[in-house]
Amino acid sequence: MRIGFDIDDTLINLREHAFHLYNRKLKKEIPREKFLELDRLEIHEPFGMDDEEGKQMWMDTRDEIYYTDCPPFPGALELLQELAEAGHEVYYITARPKDHGERTKEWMKERGFPVEDSRFFYGMKDEQKIHTIKELELDYYIDDKPEVIETLSEIPIKLFLKDQTYNRHITHIPRITDWSEFKEIIEHHSL
Ligand SMILES: [Mg+2]
Repeated sequence: MRIGFDIDDTLINLREHAFHLYNRKLKKEIPREKFLELDRLEIHEPFGMDDEEGKQMWMDTRDEIYYTDCPPFPGALELLQELAEAGHEVYYITARPKDHGERTKEWMKERGFPVEDSRFFYGMKDEQKIHTIKELELDYYIDDKPEVIETLSEIPIKLFLKDQTYNRHITHIPRITDWSEFKEIIEHHSL
């Protein structure tokens, strides 16, 4: 099976990691509950920032957000290792900017993700992911962003949403809340 994954907030808990970093940098102690209540992707509002300030904060903190110790979601790393070992082709398709692509790839490898150089794609906008996904003729693709999922609903692929507070309005696409569920889906498919 050819299986594609988005990275940020699909495989790794990037927003929550960033939320912790914001607390530390701004010397605040905004509780995790506030993070869990967010119904949008952006995380700056609980820190009292408007969208422009939030964007600037993200850009100023981006290297730290990307390349420190952002944890994978429980079971994600193990699942991908098992899929690769079982002979499935694991692809990564991230909208991280071009100048962060190679460093992100190395970071993923260091964290233990099974990465083959020819199966790692970056530097496209959300709405452009469809071109890569189509060309690769993936069997499965998983992402957290409603904007990405919506562009993909026309192509013959099994789509899944990584469950997040900001995508719960999408009800027609199956969602993954726990990565161990996905293993069962693939195993069932392979039978
Ligand atoms: Mg994402």
